[in-house]
Amino acid sequence: MNALISVSDKTGVLEFAQALHALGIKLLSTGGTAKLLADAGLPVTEVAELTGFPEMLDGRVKTLHPKVHGGLLARRDLPEHMAALKTHGIDTIDLLVVNLYPFEATVAKPGCTLEDAIENIDIGGPAMVRSAAKNWQDVGVLTDASQYAGVLAELTDDGKLTKKTRFALAVAAFNRISLYDGAISDYLSGIADDGSHSQFAGQSNGRFIKVQDLRYGENSHQQAALYRDLHPAPGSLVTAKQLQGKELSYNNIGDSDAAWECVKGFSQPACVIVKHANPCGVAVGANALEAYSKAFETDPSSAFGGIIALNCTLDGAAALQISKQFVEVLMAPAFTPEALEVFKNKANVRLLQIDLPAGGETPWAQGRNAVDIKRVGSGLLMQTADNHELLLADLKVVSKRQPTPAQLEDLLFAWKVAKYVKSNAIVFCSGGMTLGVGAGQMSRVDSARIASIKAANAGLVLTGSAVASDAFFPFRDGLDVVVDAGATSVIQPGGSMRDEEVIAAANERDVVMVLTGVRHFRH
Ligand code: 5GP
Repeated sequence: MNALISVSDKTGVLEFAQALHALGIKLLSTGGTAKLLADAGLPVTEVAELTGFPEMLDGRVKTLHPKVHGGLLARRDLPEHMAALKTHGIDTIDLLVVNLYPFEATVAKPGCTLEDAIENIDIGGPAMVRSAAKNWQDVGVLTDASQYAGVLAELTDDGKLTKKTRFALAVAAFNRISLYDGAISDYLSGIADDGSHSQFAGQSNGRFIKVQDLRYGENSHQQAALYRDLHPAPGSLVTAKQLQGKELSYNNIGDSDAAWECVKGFSQPACVIVKHANPCGVAVGANALEAYSKAFETDPSSAFGGIIALNCTLDGAAALQISKQFVEVLMAPAFTPEALEVFKNKANVRLLQIDLPAGGETPWAQGRNAVDIKRVGSGLLMQTADNHELLLADLKVVSKRQPTPAQLEDLLFAWKVAKYVKSNAIVFCSGGMTLGVGAGQMSRVDSARIASIKAANAGLVLTGSAVASDAFFPFRDGLDVVVDAGATSVIQPGGSMRDEEVIAAANERDVVMVLTGVRHFRH
């Protein structure tokens, strides 16, 4: 039996080689490894001697030779294969022990240059590992020192490895190669060709990096973990720094994302309160305190235990007000020392500091995902993310009554919020705050009814309010419900077969109706 040993990490390899030798296994090895074994007095044949070629090009070519790969790849059960080996004077290699150039450790070092990284891409090692793992029926392949003891025990007992072990070793070998190539791809995806780090280069390599295990998933019997993009967009949730509080849960993270995505779309100071993935209060104001107070007013009972996001600095005054309610997570781009002081003795409250995105043309620059992914039975759905921003100029007034500037402002505000409410979404707003949110109903009329009931429960008056519907009104009944409740202006995508009927109803009720031409389903 022949074993080829070629390892960068030489931990434990001498003892392992000594044991193989004691079992009568012939040792082949590459330069550095061969020297280590020979220095310890073991008989070892250098691969250079076997191939008749010296190691060359600074070690880039050591084992890339038919005498090595023929010996690894030949099927022992095929007479033609064995005859070919004989013709070319090649001996079989039955055991391969390889660990690779330390690429991961090299690029993890601060100041690693592109040249250092490139030189640490192992070529011959993975090639041999692949050859041996492909031919697992005949060859055992070890890629990690942790495998030495188990393999040795089996060889000592039986003189050979079981089929089960050889297969398991081959699977581990391909896993190792896959991780190794992944690390190379990750590293190169994040730099430019002059070696400088490019934030944008790696966005699309499609790999996710585990951030942390979570205590459990949506429910306590589900396991869960958080992963991030290789290069997360600045201003996205996974870039948050937790300043205090309990560990974030799966549901905390989902709700925080909804709140943060919504709040960062506003240019004025804004506050979004989320419960169960839906905003239950959104408002803009002159400062954090005003924005929060207005958002809270929408639905004080739902806000209990909510997730709160601000797009402006949380100061002492706002912190004091927020501290009066039970809050799970509080997010802001900055916290004043006074604000931090307020939450010091509320140690469970999770405070997240998240930078606002720098802004720019691409979703990445806006701190948003370019692509959305949703799992379906044994598959996944992918789509470009809903990053549509509605501009005033996009609006089409279809009613006889023309909107006032204040109504237009309310309508655009309502539309911005409706985008983050689960469909069917109906959102009443006025004066830069939500008055009633109807979310996630199977019928648009029911969402409209619920939104108006919730406003009434909170003691808010809908007279003169603006209302947004995330998709068109299929019939006039939904419109009648919101106008009956007090709305005098409506924003909706349009595009229904019965648009004419709905617009006629708006005129009959003498309210403003504007169309967006786009819808914001959110499921
Ligand atoms: P040694 O310290 O024995 O000189 O080198 C061991 C390392 O060389 C191992 O990490 C092995 O994966 C790697 N290696 C073996 N053959 C080749 C080859 O042909 N090209 C390159 N680049 N690396 C190789």
